[in-house]
Amino acid sequence: MRPDSFLFYQLFEAESFTYTYVLADRKTREAIVIDPVMETHERDLKLLEEEELKLLYILETHVHADHITGAALLKEKTNSKICLSEHSGALRADLLLKNDQRLRFGQHEIKCLSTPGHTDGCMSYYCEDRVFTGDALLIRGCGRTDFQQGSPDKLFHSVREKLFSLSDEIYVYPAHDYNGQTRSQISLEKKFNSRLNLGLSNSDFSQIMNSLKLARPKKIEVSVPANLRCGFAN
Ligand code: FE
Repeated sequence: MRPDSFLFYQLFEAESFTYTYVLADRKTREAIVIDPVMETHERDLKLLEEEELKLLYILETHVHADHITGAALLKEKTNSKICLSEHSGALRADLLLKNDQRLRFGQHEIKCLSTPGHTDGCMSYYCEDRVFTGDALLIRGCGRTDFQQGSPDKLFHSVREKLFSLSDEIYVYPAHDYNGQTRSQISLEKKFNSRLNLGLSNSDFSQIMNSLKLARPKKIEVSVPANLRCGFAN
């Protein structure tokens, strides 16, 4: 297998099944973290230190409902900027990201793709051969659309127009996986995603999403207010 052009870690938080990603330029050691979790922030800081990385940006794919972000705790120990979508409603972000905005780390670049539908402020991050899709697109599934401005119609358009328009071979790295899978590819999701494969229509998708009857996330009452403050106490 071809080695990644940048340094890459896919880290896991077992209580909320969340993936945290670290990307870094091999030469300059400039780094980006995507979706850190409060409970595992010390692990992440230790890895940054061991790899001698300089954290530039902490990116959130959205305001999470199932866990508290580790962003504030990482920022306290590094000279980094917390970044979320301009539509996230977040109060303590350093940078509010726009669709198509680019962020550099060393010789690499992340492109922000606004993918609302799970929440209004969902942002996917595209970098070279992969895209970090948050909860907009999960492996063979997608994030729920029954709270936090959720909209099946918006999510359908985001996935079909913003994500499925990427090349088939692009790797998909989601914010969570509950079945032990680590990544997918655009081509596989177009064929096999149970809710969004190309054989299904917008109204099929709405029907699926509106009949899920999911339990409310246990931590939503604490997570959402804390995450709107990017994990800061006040
Ligand atoms: Fe979510």
